[in-house]
Amino acid sequence: MRLPPYKLLFLTLSCCAATAVMAFNFLGAKWSGGRTTFHVAIPGVAPTGQSWSSAFVGAMAQWTALTDFTFEVNSTPLDPCVGYGRNSRGLGFPAGNGDARNSADFGTTVCGNEFGDNVLAITLTLTAPGTLGFDYLRQTDIIFNSKFSWDIYSGPSRSAKDFGRVALHELGHALGLAHENQLASIMASSVGDITTLQPDDLAAASSLYTAPGNCYIAAIKLNSRVDDALQSGDCRIMDLYGGSDDTSYVDVYKFRLEQDSYVNIQMQSTALDSVLIITDASLGDPLIFDDFNGACDARVAQSLRAGDYLLLANTYVVPEKCAGNVGNYLITMTDSTLPILGAVINTNASAQVTPMLFSGGASVDGVNYRSSFSAQELIDVKAQIAPVPAHVGLPGSTYVLATLSNGAQYVKNSAGSFVPFSGRLADMVAYRQGTLAALEKITVVEDLKGGSAGLAGQEIRVYVGYAPASAPNDIYYSSVPIRFSITR
Ligand SMILES: [Zn+2]
Repeated sequence: MRLPPYKLLFLTLSCCAATAVMAFNFLGAKWSGGRTTFHVAIPGVAPTGQSWSSAFVGAMAQWTALTDFTFEVNSTPLDPCVGYGRNSRGLGFPAGNGDARNSADFGTTVCGNEFGDNVLAITLTLTAPGTLGFDYLRQTDIIFNSKFSWDIYSGPSRSAKDFGRVALHELGHALGLAHENQLASIMASSVGDITTLQPDDLAAASSLYTAPGNCYIAAIKLNSRVDDALQSGDCRIMDLYGGSDDTSYVDVYKFRLEQDSYVNIQMQSTALDSVLIITDASLGDPLIFDDFNGACDARVAQSLRAGDYLLLANTYVVPEKCAGNVGNYLITMTDSTLPILGAVINTNASAQVTPMLFSGGASVDGVNYRSSFSAQELIDVKAQIAPVPAHVGLPGSTYVLATLSNGAQYVKNSAGSFVPFSGRLADMVAYRQGTLAALEKITVVEDLKGGSAGLAGQEIRVYVGYAPASAPNDIYYSSVPIRFSITR
């Protein structure tokens, strides 16, 4: 990722000359997600009898069928000059910022401005800056110069211009391609005998829109954690996004939400400036998360629609602050608002502990988790345990242990009561016994009123844990407890 540039909107104007004016070229901007919609309702028919609209839709269909880009048709009429007007010189980019919709039509002027000599058609392009090494196309409008005589035909170019091949060319500009005069191409700067998309045109569109590039994609699951690193040899944003020149490293994960879900995703690192990006499966509509609470970690905390997503673990090309741009990171991902607790450890020092995720916290509203409460507030304490996948479905026990700053210790038993605990593992009492679920949800207390419970002035630490029945003394628990105090 890069810092956003200063410019906000940028207009370009690309045209196709009637008379003579490398590999493919890009305009430097592309559509998010590789698709856009054109309003197509061009009145009239060609001398040969075919409607202009059907020829334009046919040109859109060629790009859609043969490349990874998709043009969609909206048949509601729309003047391409909505939001544009005559500028002070009456030539060049129209004045105005358009209407954020794409349209095509004939015109005697370019929204009040001269076409210029020998210009058959003009594509107006409106872009907005992006932070992933390319700009975003926001609006494209195509205006065919009605001063020329037009027809629809194949074969060598005649004095009446072939609308179909010019539409193909202008649509190439609309999806982000510039002129190409070295190889046979519909994107040649002047109209000729080429009437269909050429291999170079297809290569250009594929290079810009083939998603998601050549990067390895790993699966990440809800209620799990990933320990990995961004380092030399990893994929870069420019490998993932065609047309990008962003050299920052990126690890790519995919996940599926079966239903609309709240997600709580954090990327933490002491070595690099963490950036998280959530996109759809075709890399469209990226949501970028950086500097959670002004610090260096990245955090996603919001609801997402059901569907398939890509999660990009990224950093800056040039770190502005917050350490470097390579190194280890940790990603945690849950579907609850509960804060993530510390690393999981085991009561048996020689037990093998693989990365797993415990979360929990104390709140009065289930949203804002705090470490201090008044004696009158009604406190809820909740926790979640995601056991190692190998333990899910096996018999086991979960545990809840609370310690007070006065030294007293309690465990919560299966009847829901807190009973005094000796501190010896052999005296541990289970909160629940049964089959271990993929996600153990634990209600530690509900509506606890510290004043009434005699807890005023105490600091309370809550540890939650679990053990498979096959190794009942090997209790996995978070090294960092849920911790809160009750004021007097
Ligand atoms: Zn052109």
